[in-house]
Amino acid sequence: MAVTFDPNPLSLENIGLFAADPDFYPDEGPKEECGVFGVFAPNEEVARIAFFGIFALQHRGQESAGIAVSNGHSINVHKDMGLVTQVFNEKVIESLTGISAIGHTRYSTTGSSIKCNAQPLSEGEIAVAHNGNLVNTKQLREELIAEGVKFETTNDSEVIAKLLFKYHRGCIEETVKAVMERIEGAYSLVILTPHELVGVRDPYGVRPLCLGKVNGSYYCLASETCAFTPIGARFLREVEPGEIVVIDRDGQREFQAIPVKKHAMCLFEFIYFARPDAKIYGKTLHQARRRMGHELALEHPCYGADVVIPVPDTSVPAAIGYAEASRIPFGEGIIKNRYIQRTFIQPSQRMRDLGARMKYSPLQETLEGRKVVVVDDSIVRGTTTGKLVKVLFDAGAREIHVRITSPPVKNPCYYGIDMANQDELVAAKHSIEEIRQQIGATTLGYLSLGGVVKAIGMHKDNFCRACFDGKYPIPIPDDVRVSKLMLERRRDVVDPRHKEGGPDDGSPDAD
Ligand code: SF4
Repeated sequence: MAVTFDPNPLSLENIGLFAADPDFYPDEGPKEECGVFGVFAPNEEVARIAFFGIFALQHRGQESAGIAVSNGHSINVHKDMGLVTQVFNEKVIESLTGISAIGHTRYSTTGSSIKCNAQPLSEGEIAVAHNGNLVNTKQLREELIAEGVKFETTNDSEVIAKLLFKYHRGCIEETVKAVMERIEGAYSLVILTPHELVGVRDPYGVRPLCLGKVNGSYYCLASETCAFTPIGARFLREVEPGEIVVIDRDGQREFQAIPVKKHAMCLFEFIYFARPDAKIYGKTLHQARRRMGHELALEHPCYGADVVIPVPDTSVPAAIGYAEASRIPFGEGIIKNRYIQRTFIQPSQRMRDLGARMKYSPLQETLEGRKVVVVDDSIVRGTTTGKLVKVLFDAGAREIHVRITSPPVKNPCYYGIDMANQDELVAAKHSIEEIRQQIGATTLGYLSLGGVVKAIGMHKDNFCRACFDGKYPIPIPDDVRVSKLMLERRRDVVDPRHKEGGPDDGSPDAD
C-alpha cells in the first residue's frame, strides 16, 4: 500500500496548528467532529467524486483532509493538513485512479491537530475513515501494544484500523462485526478494501451516515445528505444504528451486526453541526432550526425590539423563525468573514487583541440606536459571545437581547464534539443571570430541551442530549473524562486549543 504526501506549496505540516487555533480565529460554535464519504463506482473517476463529497462536508472539519482509493488490488492514500482545496489539486486527483474511494475531513477530538492524525488511516490492505469518538480507546490500545502492535498516531481511529487489520481473515462482514464487538463509543465508519466499500454505524447511532446512489447504479455513503447533491447522487436511506452495509461489484447488501442499544443521535447535529440543507431522521435541518426560532420566540419573547439578527451562518434559519413568530423584522447586523480560517498568515498581537472583530463586522445601519435581538446556536465558554455583544454595542446598538437555540451546555461531549472540559463550560458554573452579566447582554434566554425536540418533532429519547442534561447514553470510563489528549506522547504536539490561556469561546467543534 502506498501512502503519499504531496509536496503541496500550501502544505500545512508546520503551520496547521496555527491554522486551527481559535485564539487567533475565534469560532462561533462547537467544533464538529469529522465528515466521511465513500463511493464504489468502477467506471467513474472515484477520487474526483470523493473530492466533491468531502468538499461538501468541509463544515464538519477543517484541519485535515484525505482520500484513499482502491484500484482493485491495492489502496493509495493522499492526505495532509488543511482544507480540502488545499490538500488536493488536479494533478493529485488525476493520479488517484481506481474503482472505489473513501474520504475524510477532520477536526480533532482525540489526538492533536498534526499531520500523522489525518485520515483515512490504512493498515495492510484496508483503510478506514472515522467520525465520532471511542470511549474505550485506552484499554484497546494497551491491549494491542501488549500484543506487539505499534502505533503511529495519537488518535482513537488508529485503534479501529489496527483492530480491522487484526481481525481481517477474508470475510469483511465478519471482520467488521468482530471489531464492532470490541469498540465502544460513537462511530460512523467508511472502510475500504481492494474489493469492497463498507459503511458502519455504532449501535446508538450517535453520528449520522447516509446511503445514496450515483448515476442510478453505483452506491455512495456520506455523513450528511448534502454531500450527495454536488455529485448528482440520490439519497436512499440512513444507515441504521448497529448496521453494516457492504458494497462491491455484486451490488449492495446489509445486515444488523449488533443489536440497537438505544437511539441516541447527537442533538447538536440538529442545532448546529449538520448543514441546513441536510436531512436527518427524514427532517430537513433548515426547517427544524426555523421552528427552534419559533419556539425560542414563544419561550423568550422580546417585546418592542426593532430587529432580529443572526450570528452568521448557522443561526440564520433560527433567526428567521424568531422573526416570523415574534413579527419583529429580520435583518443582517453582523457580516462574517467566511474566509478567515483560510489564511495562514499570522495576525499581529494588536490584531489578535481585536478578538471577534477578526471574524465579525457589525453593520452600523442595522444596529445604531436600536433594540436588537441576536440569535445564536450555543454558548460554550462565553468569551466569544461577550466579545460579540461588545462589538454590537460599540456599533451603536441601544439594547442587545441574546437568544440561544439550545439549552445551557453544562457537560462535555465524549462522543466526537469538542466543547471543552466541564470547568471551562460557563453554564456548568454560573446561573443564566451570571452568564448574562458576564457577556454584557441586556437580557439572555436559552431554548429549553422540550422546545428543541418539539421543533424537531420527535421525542427526546431519540437523541443524545448529554451535554445539556448529563445523561450519557454510552457509559464514560473515568480515564476518558480526564482529557482527549490522554494519548499524547510528546509535549510539543499539544493541541493549541488546550494550551494555557485556553481557546476562545466558540460553539462545539467535532471528530
Ligand atoms: S453530548 Fe451533546 S454534542 Fe455530544 S453527542 Fe451528545 S448531544 Fe451531541
